[in-house]
Amino acid sequence: MGSPSLASVNEQAAGPVTDPEVAAERRRPALSPSRAADFKQCPLLYRFRAVDRLPEPPGSAALRGTLVHAVLERLFDLPAPERLPGTARVLLGRVWAELVAAAPELVEVVVPAQRAPEAPDPLAEWFASAGALLEVYFGMEDPRAVESEERELLVETELASGVPLRGYLDRLDVGAGGALRIVDYKTGAAPRESGEGRALFQMKFYALALLQLRGRVPEELRLVYLGAGGEELTYRPDEGELRRFERILEAIWAAVQEADRTGEFLPSTGPGCGWCAHKALCPAWGGTPPPYPGWPELRGTAPTAPFGTTPTAPFGTTPTAPFGTTPAAPGGTAPAALGATAPAAPGSTAPTAPSGTTADNPAPDRTAPGRAASGPPPRPVPVAGGMIEP
Ligand code: SF4
Repeated sequence: MGSPSLASVNEQAAGPVTDPEVAAERRRPALSPSRAADFKQCPLLYRFRAVDRLPEPPGSAALRGTLVHAVLERLFDLPAPERLPGTARVLLGRVWAELVAAAPELVEVVVPAQRAPEAPDPLAEWFASAGALLEVYFGMEDPRAVESEERELLVETELASGVPLRGYLDRLDVGAGGALRIVDYKTGAAPRESGEGRALFQMKFYALALLQLRGRVPEELRLVYLGAGGEELTYRPDEGELRRFERILEAIWAAVQEADRTGEFLPSTGPGCGWCAHKALCPAWGGTPPPYPGWPELRGTAPTAPFGTTPTAPFGTTPTAPFGTTPAAPGGTAPAALGATAPAAPGSTAPTAPSGTTADNPAPDRTAPGRAASGPPPRPVPVAGGMIEP
């Protein structure tokens, strides 16, 4: 996640809400990995996004992420033998054409209003960079060998304490014995140590949501970073760890509710202010926020489990067929390079070996060699009258 969905980009650009997923986002606020991270980073940022719902036009990097996510989603809608680099190249052009047809002004996100006539075509460069990300993807995984059950899956559930959770899974794979693997694509580079806490938070969030919905601990969560040549973070959760994480989400949600009760969503300055879309409204930077509008009213129906099932399997089902092996390309052939016009991804050699891991290791595993997979502890959550220790 990280990139706005195709629907939300269209909504930002075109106005009316017609997509059910966007409508779902407009229902009552719930904790998602992004919104929880917002609140931990800066409660006022959470308010601007989740309560005021101030628009944030996408930047070119986010728009590229949306495009690449949509191409990968469509790729997995096709029969496995058709999931080829050439197909992805065709989809890239098709999805972009659909986006621009729905919202022609999106071109302006990529093309600056003023540029020198002799400068390289920014749209062609941007489009080629999206193709390069897909090329990296094909170097990391052969989609023909993947059994994917769901793509761009909205997961909504409620913890026993009543905390509403909502998130979107890029892909859900079901393996032998019903083993679950959650895959999330990132079009940026893998985080350094300082960012791993956020990645781990996201993975635990999805694992807990699936445990809640399916009564089964997902065997594997994979964050697939397509930037900087490609890298994977893999996490294999256990139920005890997820139950402890549940307490953290409850504490964050309690802090959100307390902030709503008092109307005090305090600003918390940091490096993120540099790219905050609402800096002009932030009192920490001399701005004045709009009056607190109060908690958004419930729109639409109550959250429903998109899987349509009440968990029936007992918690803590023992994994029977863990994922963790890279599927071999059928026929042993490497996928062809994607797009003759796309520039080669820098350092685009695929990761060759997963880092040594154990199922009990709570830190994400990396498939590319390098840094240790542990990061600094998450920051305490600043709230009115105190801090939440993650
Ligand atoms: S500018 Fe910084 S402190 Fe202000 S709302 Fe944005 S992230 Fe928070």
